[in-house]
Amino acid sequence: MTTQQPGAEQCPPSVCHSSDLLLGFVNTAPWGGNPETMNGAEDLSAWLARAGLLDAEADVTGADAAAARELRDAFIMIFRAHSGCADGQDALPAAERYIQRIAQRYPLVSQLSAEGCRLVPAQDGVLGGFGALFAAAADLAARGGWARLKMCKDPSCHRGFFDKTRNSSGLYCSTACSTRMAARAYRSRSKKSA
Ligand SMILES: [Zn+2]
Repeated sequence: MTTQQPGAEQCPPSVCHSSDLLLGFVNTAPWGGNPETMNGAEDLSAWLARAGLLDAEADVTGADAAAARELRDAFIMIFRAHSGCADGQDALPAAERYIQRIAQRYPLVSQLSAEGCRLVPAQDGVLGGFGALFAAAADLAARGGWARLKMCKDPSCHRGFFDKTRNSSGLYCSTACSTRMAARAYRSRSKKSA
């Protein structure tokens, strides 16, 4: 699902593939009243299979799902910092330290061809699946799209989204969320002035 925003620009498909993968991952967390969808091995297995990262028959454990949720929390914290969330800024150093340390478990190798060079996971299985998330992050960073991955600032939403605004100033995943927040701000201003 993509949401067009004011001043939206088309992003190159490869950028969208990397951002879709990362957003699909962070949006397995509860958002907008939707429940947690990364509860255990089955959920992770199904998600990896849907993302084309792993055979549905492959071995996935509950510990892998717990690792996925931890990794997801770190991505979410970074995306919250991209949205300028204050708690994102406070918890950011810990999330960065965690994700830098954990990245050693999911090494990437360069895949060179006449067309170019891209980073791909060095391992197969679940570890390779997690590695693909780091490869997607590296791809987006190289294309200047990393800071555009954000979490919606509407507290009743908190969905991950790709900010397509021209000046990277988007704070909400959809017009519905920005309208709701504008109405809320208006009501609070009216209450103060009354
Ligand atoms: Zn939203």
